[in-house]
Amino acid sequence: MYKDIATPIRTKTILEKYGFSFKKSLGQNFLIDPNILKRIVDHADITEETGAIEIGPGIGALTEHLARSSKKVVAFEIDQRLLPILTETLAPYPNVEVIHQDVLKADVKAVIEEKLADVKDIMVVANLPYYVTTPIIMKLLEEKLPIRGLVVMLQKEVADRISAQPGTKEYGSLSIAIQYYTKAEIVMTVPKTVFVPQPNVDSAIIRLTVREKPAVEMMNEEFFFQVIKSSFAQRRKTILNNLTTQLPNGKEKKEAIVLALTEAKIDPSRRGETLSIEEFARLSDALLPAFV
Ligand code: SAM
Repeated sequence: MYKDIATPIRTKTILEKYGFSFKKSLGQNFLIDPNILKRIVDHADITEETGAIEIGPGIGALTEHLARSSKKVVAFEIDQRLLPILTETLAPYPNVEVIHQDVLKADVKAVIEEKLADVKDIMVVANLPYYVTTPIIMKLLEEKLPIRGLVVMLQKEVADRISAQPGTKEYGSLSIAIQYYTKAEIVMTVPKTVFVPQPNVDSAIIRLTVREKPAVEMMNEEFFFQVIKSSFAQRRKTILNNLTTQLPNGKEKKEAIVLALTEAKIDPSRRGETLSIEEFARLSDALLPAFV
């Protein structure tokens, strides 16, 4: 077994050797605690037959832990300066492939088909760049990739919103968007001290287990998300008020909206944040005839 990349001393030595300076704009906060890395990988239930996708390998701290326990790792890294470093640090792991690309622009499905065709299951495991946490997670879920789930480090505040339940102040369109596709749970909160440089915010590790089919069914998915977005537009207002002001021609269609709320058995004076995902599905189907 090789010495961990993620010890404070080895990380410092590697960074100094290459004269690497962190780019805040790329969300570069590297992990320097092998124990946390082990726990991230443990939560992903990886086997020797698993393919792992990593976003932002940095200098390879998490990558090598993934390489040790999985069949193959494919890692997307945007920062060209890290490529020679990764070539050196990951040299002992022939089952790692680094792709120099912005993951938001990458054709991840094609990469999976090409590079992970022979694995039994696929997990996304990453210490995400915090400036693009939500776009990255949403991209991977909306593209309906053949993945079992994600175990990712992110801002604690975002993790709280993703896993929030109805009736809490953290619950909103992000909670619903992600829980529609996955079962979401925070598995661990993480202190700032395990990173270099230390981020300004607290962090957490979240596990998103992809559902076999979305949590609810409705007639029109796009309209369902439009109803949700409208319902949370002004959190202190009632659902009726938000729908009439936010949906197209909502004011003229107020009567139809009241009827749809009644049909969906939702009191018009409730606030959006109290509605469950099932209630939003019912409401969106009841509203649909008035808006198509
Ligand atoms: N995995 C390493 C670790 O845990 O020490 C580094 C994690 S650091 C929080 C985020 C990494 O994502 C950095 O290496 C950064 O360069 C990379 N990154 C930032 N934006 C990216 C993007 N759009 N696509 C791919 N990688 C990105």
